[in-house]
Amino acid sequence: MNKTEQRLRDTLHEIEQQGLYKQERIITTPQGVEIRTREGGEVLNFCANNYLGLANHPDMIAAATEALQSHGFGMASVRFICGTQDLHKELEQRIAEFLGTDDAILYTSCFDANTGLFETLLDDNDAVISDALNHASIIDGIRLCKATRLRYQHSDMNDLEKQLKLAQQYRTRLIVTDGVFSMDGDIAKLDEIVKLAEKYDAMVMVDDSHATGILGAHGKGTAEYHGVLDKIDIFTSTLGKALGGGSGGFTAASQPVIELLRQRSRPYLFSNTLTPALASAGIKAIELISSSSALRDKLNENTAYFRNAMYTNCFDINPGQHPIVPVMLFDAKVAQTMAARLLEEGIYVIGFFYPVVPQGKARIRVQISAAHERSHLDRAISAFTKIGREMEVIE
Ligand SMILES: *Cc1c(COP(=O)(O)O)cnc(C)c1O
Repeated sequence: MNKTEQRLRDTLHEIEQQGLYKQERIITTPQGVEIRTREGGEVLNFCANNYLGLANHPDMIAAATEALQSHGFGMASVRFICGTQDLHKELEQRIAEFLGTDDAILYTSCFDANTGLFETLLDDNDAVISDALNHASIIDGIRLCKATRLRYQHSDMNDLEKQLKLAQQYRTRLIVTDGVFSMDGDIAKLDEIVKLAEKYDAMVMVDDSHATGILGAHGKGTAEYHGVLDKIDIFTSTLGKALGGGSGGFTAASQPVIELLRQRSRPYLFSNTLTPALASAGIKAIELISSSSALRDKLNENTAYFRNAMYTNCFDINPGQHPIVPVMLFDAKVAQTMAARLLEEGIYVIGFFYPVVPQGKARIRVQISAAHERSHLDRAISAFTKIGREMEVIE
């Protein structure tokens, strides 16, 4: 083995030693609630971002299949050469209408939307003010851009105000936040953020990947939830979670923002177009969530039921109303062992520990879906209770 490979092996060994090695479980069925895994057999899935159950929804499959037939498999081009079909324009228009912006632009992922955003809009005359717990793709996107970076403590509005004061000499100030933070399921205080943005003449960008389709009366996300939909300058989000879980992401904003992204955003200019099947299914997802609140209502009922039962059984769960339900266990080993024991009970959940969450804040993150039936939730609750007692996590 050469020196480099030896070094890489050492790093891998270190990762294993620290108990941080990530194993991937192999699923042999479509994504959903009742799935089969090679390692755990038949299990109930409680760790997908499949909030509305659209990942294997018949209407989504029909929309994708139809587009495969009518528009083919791949585009073999970036958008500006020969990679733009009517389906792509239609999806962009639907997204913009949904969020009430002038326009929207598609990317192959929200990760790409975020890495292609900041350097296109800002340079060294500007400042980005970012929540300390923002998603990795936001952090990377900000790294790629020459604007001054300021960070505020997670959801700390006093600190945000302090950073805004420090940023007054810059040309443009952009406040950047996740709509919902994935580890705790807590919701950004967009109402307060928007007020501070007005006071200090800043723009607001929200990455609503864990909220689009599920938060707010019409599923328009965190801004609708807080009643400030028309006060957000830039939205990014994903088609890879509630909106079907295929892949794809987007940025929605005013016309000049989107037009400049089409001209300059590197992941858009230098990466292949979303497949037509994904564009078609994206249109269907927007249709499904716009035409009825039934899936959202069921998701909310399921979440309230599960949270309440876990709370009653004395589990330490972070309060809230998001379908991300962190069951706090604090100790990494306990989180890992408990997840493994739950898998033996047929409940597929994952333990999260440092460095994904702070030291001493290990947890199992449960994710509820509209596709869960009451019987699925009950099975999870009784498995948690059984293993929790055995492991003396609860009395
Ligand atoms: C999941 C997620 C992303 C990445 O979305 P992809 O479309 O899978 O790249 C980006 N930002 C946040 C906040 C996310 O939760």
